[in-house]
Amino acid sequence: MTGLGFKRWLRVGLVFGLSCLLLFGFGSLNSSVSGVKKTLTVVTEPTFAPFEFQSGGKLLGFDIELVNAIAAAAGFKVRYQSMPFSGMIPALQAQSVDAAVSAMTITEERAKTVSFSRPYFKSGLGIVVRANNQDITNFESLKNKKIAVQIGTTGADKAKSVPGAAIRTFDDTPLALQELLNGNVDAVIHDQPVLLYAIKSRNIQGVKVVGQLLTEEYYGIPTPKGSPNLKLINQGLTKVLANGTYAKIYTKWFNHAPPSLPEKLPFQQEAVQPSGSAIFTSISIILRSLPFLLQGALVTLEITALSVVLGLAGGSLLGIVRLSPIMPVRWAARAYVDFFRGTPLLVQIFMIYFGIPAVAQELGFTFTFDRLVAAVMALSLNSAAYIAEIVRAGIQSIDPGQAEASQSLGLSSVQTMRYVIFPQALRRMLPPLGNEFIAMLKDTSLVAVIGFEELFRRGQLIVAENYRAFEIYAAVAMIYLCLTLLSSQAFSWLETRLNPIQQLKVKVGKM
Ligand code: GLN
Repeated sequence: MTGLGFKRWLRVGLVFGLSCLLLFGFGSLNSSVSGVKKTLTVVTEPTFAPFEFQSGGKLLGFDIELVNAIAAAAGFKVRYQSMPFSGMIPALQAQSVDAAVSAMTITEERAKTVSFSRPYFKSGLGIVVRANNQDITNFESLKNKKIAVQIGTTGADKAKSVPGAAIRTFDDTPLALQELLNGNVDAVIHDQPVLLYAIKSRNIQGVKVVGQLLTEEYYGIPTPKGSPNLKLINQGLTKVLANGTYAKIYTKWFNHAPPSLPEKLPFQQEAVQPSGSAIFTSISIILRSLPFLLQGALVTLEITALSVVLGLAGGSLLGIVRLSPIMPVRWAARAYVDFFRGTPLLVQIFMIYFGIPAVAQELGFTFTFDRLVAAVMALSLNSAAYIAEIVRAGIQSIDPGQAEASQSLGLSSVQTMRYVIFPQALRRMLPPLGNEFIAMLKDTSLVAVIGFEELFRRGQLIVAENYRAFEIYAAVAMIYLCLTLLSSQAFSWLETRLNPIQQLKVKVGKM
């Protein structure tokens, strides 16, 4: 570089650096100068009417209106972000967001990780069953029944205390309720106001709420521990409670005047998270969760193995059909492959598990799905499409001269395929089949959405309890990695076994 060029670059660098400094400097000054409102990022899960939901692309609900009123009263702006309920506490803990508003019950356990605002809503858990159910009338009669809950909620916690109950956890409330409607579970335990609203607004039909309220709970707005915004939120909330705005919003959504709320939490909350030796705690958390996760890994392997066997059988057939000389047959196979490759696996899982029983009920007959069957069905139908293409490509990669040669030797076309083409094609298919197997192993994590307790879901369940997202997901990732490394090792071994030249080398080496 010439001296002149260097100077020019130096000048450009200086100007750039200074502009950055000024920009950042003013940026931070901006938020601290009084009169300029600061913006808080508030997360919510808009599937919880009447507290937060979406309609016509707009975020609506009691919680949303309340937070907007609090923001107006305390002088800050709000940027809403959508997030699954079970991810909120880990996100607050990581300080990636400023607050959450999602009808979150204030519990002592949660308050160890986040700091709650003063209570803003009085609530409680209720039980909902299908309208024709006569045996479940209260909490005691839930014994030995199948119960659907939303992961990480107080309802999920309560369900654990029902003796002999089979609990299925779902990512959100509509999925848990759909499970009840489809007849896969006997009851759902969730926040009573939400259950009542869903029935009243006719969002779900054919269900009823039974028994008394199971708990008395208060909702609060959680913020990260030690957050300076907590004071602001509390000030705003106190103002809207005092000036009648709260009562107005409450009456609008619940058609009656609000009950009185306590001013303080029922326990002392620490300003900072109690800390132990970080590394030591992390290791002991991972070790404690390992047995539960490993059981999940077995389930993952079970679904993978079943789906691979079925997918392989279906895919091989389909791959051969794709080469059929009969055009409509060829096109049908092509349409299948296009559909299953062209739509997300997650959508296919939803369609099979929730869609088919719902359609069956519309048509007037009851049809319920076993989750294992639904999971394996979705995974194997999907992977058959990919395997079909691998098989087709493998067969087509063999020189047509070989088929001509074997047929001129008198072999039938089936014999040609069986003894000449397929053994060679199989060797070429092995690497992509290995990829497909590994992809399938990882894709099994998607069946967590239907409440299947495989490895990933078990990780989520532990995080919902201890909020140690990093440690638990790191452990889950390591287990997946071990499983995929073992599988790719197995495929390499198979490749060597099926390769005659390698085999020969091995034999010669032994001599
Ligand atoms: N109030 C319940 C809880 O805090 C459920 C909240 C929700 O699902 N959004 O666990």
